[in-house]
Amino acid sequence: MSEMLLEIRNATKVYKQRGTGGAKREVIALQNFNLSIPKKPASIITIAGESGSGKTTLAQLVLGFTRLTSGQIIFDGQDISSADAQQIKDYRRQVQAVFQDPFGVYNPFYRVEHVFNTVITNFKLASNPQSRRALCEKALNIVGLRGEDVLRKYPHQLSGGQRQRIMMARAYMISPKLIVADEPVSMVDASLRASILDVMIRLKEEIGISFLYITHDLSTAYQIGDQIFILYQGTIAEKGNTIHVIDEPRHPYVQLLVDSVPVPDPDVKWEGEINLPSDEEMRTSVNSGCRFYPRCPSRMDRCLTAQPPLYKIDEVDHQASCYLYDENEVAVLNNNSR
Ligand code: ADP
Ligand code: MG
Repeated sequence: MSEMLLEIRNATKVYKQRGTGGAKREVIALQNFNLSIPKKPASIITIAGESGSGKTTLAQLVLGFTRLTSGQIIFDGQDISSADAQQIKDYRRQVQAVFQDPFGVYNPFYRVEHVFNTVITNFKLASNPQSRRALCEKALNIVGLRGEDVLRKYPHQLSGGQRQRIMMARAYMISPKLIVADEPVSMVDASLRASILDVMIRLKEEIGISFLYITHDLSTAYQIGDQIFILYQGTIAEKGNTIHVIDEPRHPYVQLLVDSVPVPDPDVKWEGEINLPSDEEMRTSVNSGCRFYPRCPSRMDRCLTAQPPLYKIDEVDHQASCYLYDENEVAVLNNNSR
């Protein structure tokens, strides 16, 4: 048995896009990405970055919706690319998804109870009406919703926050080990956002479910995340303990990001956008070396020679991919430990 729930090793995803005039170009959406989530204790790992930084690509890879160009994804010791049918079935149960727009995944003609009944039937979660009802009730309680009322509603009769909590309840029923949540609160009113983040914390602490929490919003990461990975154009700019990284960012990009947070008020939504040349515009301009070079206030000639490795910042869990720290020890790849 593996000690690790999920290990992502050197994951790279290259998309072929058709540019103007039909010319093909390759976009490296994710490059040599490494991450491991231990089985215990359950944790919330945030993947943050601007739009286009590769967050959804990572989610889709972990969910098995798209294939790696190179690298490996290993779940409980099993490489998912070579898993047999039974192992894939098991994986699909252990890893559940919650998406940004929960409206999109509901059929508007079915009541909430249908969503639950479908999952109970598909995953054989209850053998009689009583246990079926008990399971629905438990799932609703966990996410702070109450019984019959909600079950009889149609999706359009629910608020965005309620819809998202129903999706968390649905995921909970299946008893997964990991929930991949891609921008789960970005379409929810700020006032309701905290209640969904609370559900995630409860599922982690009371049930032992780990999360890959994907967001462009550092303030919510600060509230719930154990560990954070900040992506820049498909590469890790900085990673580590969420509080350390956000309180004392070291990578010039992350410093700009954090400085753009208006006030240290968790209720203020921070969009994580900074006023610099667009990401897409810059994406193709650097092929070797640090991808942040064109935008970096601290750039040096050597930054163009090779992509900087992750350097340890100090003894705590904190690493930055920047030559400013090259007197520090290089972090061991694929090792989440400090
Ligand atoms: P994020 O979720 O952080 O906004 P994405 O993972 O969606 O980022 O996208 C990362 C990069 O990959 C972007 O440049 C995007 O245009 C490109 N990309 C994403 N999905 C596809 C796809 N299916 N085909 C081609 N390019 C894609
Ligand atoms: Mg996305």
